[in-house]
Amino acid sequence: MSRVPRVLVVEDEQDIAALIKHALERSGDATVDVVGSGDTALRAVRERAPDLVILDVNLPVMSGTEVCRVMRARPDTAHVPIIMLTARTSEADRVAGLDLGADDYVTKPFSLRELAARVRAVLRRKRAGAESPAAIYEGAHLRADFDAVAIAVDGRPVRLTRREFELLKFLVENRNRVLSRDRLLERVWGYERFVETRSVDVHVGRLRAKLAGAGPQIETVVGLGYRFVD
Ligand code: CA
Repeated sequence: MSRVPRVLVVEDEQDIAALIKHALERSGDATVDVVGSGDTALRAVRERAPDLVILDVNLPVMSGTEVCRVMRARPDTAHVPIIMLTARTSEADRVAGLDLGADDYVTKPFSLRELAARVRAVLRRKRAGAESPAAIYEGAHLRADFDAVAIAVDGRPVRLTRREFELLKFLVENRNRVLSRDRLLERVWGYERFVETRSVDVHVGRLRAKLAGAGPQIETVVGLGYRFVD
């Protein structure tokens, strides 16, 4: 992706949209199109998929959450990265957005520098993902070869249960992203309905202990879930 990335901003408050556009274009991070409603946004992404969508939750008629849900359900837009703009007070919005597959969220009021940094991070992940869906992760302590099912911390092999292995794999594949307990349950446990969200906490606790020095890379994000950090 040597060209300048294209970002679609979906925000009905025109002055906020204009600020975002100005900030991202001035820094050279992206060229920005702005639309003010959810249905216009869905038309725009289907016509020509942008590299990233910045999606406000509070939109007239069709909410940002609904736009996110529709985009993720359609094969041609399922993989377009989404950063949600949510109200600081609404944890429910953030959880809903992440559950629906948003890549990240920024709470209002936000600093333009923070938003630009998040945009760059998501675009970097998108590029990295396109180049190599790397099956090997190497960090300061942890080396995880997911194809070979070989996990080692500081050079010593670590034995994980299948569930712990799947949990680590999903966390690492989505590193630097917050994953809600419900999402982890759905992806790692499947739809076993008797499993409680607390099981996630128990398994994360065991996994952290086994990962020793690399354990702290699995962060608890209070009220939201977990994140594996690089
Ligand atoms: Ca709005």
